[in-house]
Amino acid sequence: MVGISSEVPERIDVSADVVIIGAGACGLVAALRAQAEGASVLVLERDAAATGSTSLSSGFVPAPATRFQQAAGISDDSRRLFAKDIFAKSADSAQPALVQLAVDNIAPALEWLADFHGIEWIVLDDFLYPGHSRHRMHAVPEKTGAGLQTALLAAVQAVDVPVVTNATVTDLCCSDGKRIDAVLVQRPDGQVESVGCEALIMACNGYGGNAELVAKYIPEIAAGQYFGHAGNTGDALLWGEALGAASEHLSGYQGHGAVAHPHGILISWALMMEGAVQVNMDGERFSNEHAGYSEQAVKVLAQPGGVVWNLYDQRIHDFALGFPDYQQALKAGAIVSGESLQQFSQKTSLPQDALNDTLNAMAERAAVGQSDAFGRTFSSDKLLSGPFYGVKVTGALFHTQGGLMIDRHCRVIDEKGIAFENLFAAGGAACGVSGPDVSGYLSGNGLLTAIAFGYVAGHVASLKS
Ligand SMILES: Cc1cc2nc3c(=O)[nH]c(=O)nc-3n(C[C@H](O)[C@H](O)[C@H](O)COP(=O)(O)OP(=O)(O)OC[C@H]3O[C@@H](n4cnc5c(N)ncnc54)[C@H](O)[C@@H]3O)c2cc1C
Repeated sequence: MVGISSEVPERIDVSADVVIIGAGACGLVAALRAQAEGASVLVLERDAAATGSTSLSSGFVPAPATRFQQAAGISDDSRRLFAKDIFAKSADSAQPALVQLAVDNIAPALEWLADFHGIEWIVLDDFLYPGHSRHRMHAVPEKTGAGLQTALLAAVQAVDVPVVTNATVTDLCCSDGKRIDAVLVQRPDGQVESVGCEALIMACNGYGGNAELVAKYIPEIAAGQYFGHAGNTGDALLWGEALGAASEHLSGYQGHGAVAHPHGILISWALMMEGAVQVNMDGERFSNEHAGYSEQAVKVLAQPGGVVWNLYDQRIHDFALGFPDYQQALKAGAIVSGESLQQFSQKTSLPQDALNDTLNAMAERAAVGQSDAFGRTFSSDKLLSGPFYGVKVTGALFHTQGGLMIDRHCRVIDEKGIAFENLFAAGGAACGVSGPDVSGYLSGNGLLTAIAFGYVAGHVASLKS
């Protein structure tokens, strides 16, 4: 249970200028930035090892007009274009000030992490995710979130910022209703410690791990599997609500329409962008897979049994082998293949006639150059041909996109728009840039606000020291 205490603890066990709750990408970037500005920093993490949703993620971070893009020959991206893509995906419902804050700070943050902390970025330039008009996804060379988290943890360790694990923050101590004096930390043996702070950054992500809050704010995905970090139980939102902070877009979230079932392994949406389709257990397509993987979660869950098959071919299978997640799925036995459609249908129990009709319909659309009933277009050079491959998938909730409202300094604001003096929220703890619907999530919006807002919050919080 989390709470607010209106008293300053009698005993302060330890204190730091900037205390950060949560050691995912957001908390670690904030820690690096605050430390670089001369503040003493302490990161508190509930788990025994700092992993967060960041480690579960693909680790792809969108950023416009970076020098890494330039080096890869991409010179026509801009903050304006990126903002336009974010607004287009969210049907203009994303908070304009937050979009600005994110697009202005993400490229400087990535370049700063490279220059001062040796974090290497590559640009994924072999496919475009739905809604991105330029190749702007950056990743560490491993192309995984675990690789990103490891690099950030190493950077934090190298500058001697303490990350205290097994430290669950339960209470914020706020003596005058506006200023946080300290936090209470529960240890696994039940011991409670108090940590004093000049500034507090909540980097403890959203409420995907809190079934009650998901049912309350996002009932449409309550039946879906939560695929994010279990420890993200909405503590920032609960503290904020108790303090009278403003929150927005609590029904917004990132879903995903391709989690291998029952293996629980993410299958990259790049397969769809390369020409794969999704068919239900009747062998029929049911959607425009190119609209976006987030909204696809709901469409997949609405199919009989809440599971469907990703259907593709040898060319796409070979392309997919470049993704660590896909290789894991292959090893786990999740990928099924058949030399012919007949063999594939026998192995998957999908009706062969229906599969045949589905493939023919795609070829017909490609031949006339018209989109299908769902709005997807097919090109003749990307039609599917045997041998065929498939993976059974379901829809899942990855992380929530709503959260506490912040100002351009990442300070939490109350319902009247007045900022709390020394309370910050960033990453999944703050309102994101995806608007109030699942369809508003542009690929990468999660790490975008984790890193960009963490970068800003760390800087401004350090000024309180
Ligand atoms: C499968 C998957 C794939 C994804 N792929 C991508 C991608 O490619 N690109 C992208 O942009 N986004 C992606 N995301 C979303 C992305 O992972 C998140 O948006 C991002 O990691 C959020 O970072 P964060 O630092 O805010 O939270 P986290 O990384 O989740 O860190 C929060 C930390 O806070 C800790 N914590 C929580 N409460 C407390 C407490 N009371 N006291 C102490 N500690 C606490 C948690 O234990 C956790 O370690 C993906 C998500 C999933 C699940």
